[in-house]
Amino acid sequence: MNPQATSTAKAPRPPLLFSVDVEDRQQLLERRVGRNHWNRPTHAFQRQMSALLDTLDTLECRATHFMLGVTVSHYPEIMQRIVSRGDEIGCHGFAHQRVHRQSRRDFELDLRRAIETVESLTGTRPVGYRAPRFSVNRDCLWMFESLAAHGFDYDASLNNTPRVPKRILGIPRAPVHLKLPSGRAIITVPAMCWHGLHRIAVPAGGGGYWRALPTSFVVRGIRASMSSQGVSAVYVHPYEFDPVPLASIRPEGGGIYPGPWLKSAFDNLWRHRVRQTTERLIREHHCMSYQSGLERYCMQTRLPVLSFTAQGRLRPSES
Ligand SMILES: [Zn+2]
Repeated sequence: MNPQATSTAKAPRPPLLFSVDVEDRQQLLERRVGRNHWNRPTHAFQRQMSALLDTLDTLECRATHFMLGVTVSHYPEIMQRIVSRGDEIGCHGFAHQRVHRQSRRDFELDLRRAIETVESLTGTRPVGYRAPRFSVNRDCLWMFESLAAHGFDYDASLNNTPRVPKRILGIPRAPVHLKLPSGRAIITVPAMCWHGLHRIAVPAGGGGYWRALPTSFVVRGIRASMSSQGVSAVYVHPYEFDPVPLASIRPEGGGIYPGPWLKSAFDNLWRHRVRQTTERLIREHHCMSYQSGLERYCMQTRLPVLSFTAQGRLRPSES
């Protein structure tokens, strides 16, 4: 018997970590334009989540749902559907405020409110966190200490995208242990970033990149990342699965307000590509929740230990 052939045959397929940022786009846009009753359930979100969960059901895909407190408190039925699927319950904060615009105290208040909301709705205390808009940067490295102190096992907020100002330097391509100044540690799972085109970083792990880039390009990039790293992490939003065009949000009393109109036009543009990409990835890879995927990945790979320099750069830890 060839031992090499045996080990190859038994090697499990590398995990593709699949996540949903469970937030109500219409609710957040209505808040942005100052509508009076922005904090209420919307038909759009129910339609979008149904379409998204139907897709995951059909393709038998498990996922992590990073839940936004201000949204999910209105939809206990949808939360129960997610729980009954056996998916992982994660945390996306409560009010969807960028982390680098908050003080540590305000961030922790928001975090605790989110944990309590999610736990009361699902019966599960989340162990994974994703910052709104991947908004952790060099000004708020304390976020990792806060997450570790609140019992989180991992963070999924790093995304090597120019859309994050003053972003952390040296973002890794695969999960790592972060060793923190307090002595605590937390795993961080960066969103997929493809370095295949002349070493240019293409953060093609989801969002606007899946709409703007051709589906075949994204699928090729994720395939390359999976084969070089043995793991990759991607994300989608409910509105990207809406079967009807996204409506623009107008401020109270009407008037000209081009911002939301332009956003809706952009969000509708090539939105069908997100569903196409999702379906192709789930058919091609072994998609699973972050928690399950990390367990599997850590059984095969010893995670590197990194720490921050004073300048906010990640580098191998010295001890
Ligand atoms: Zn979000």
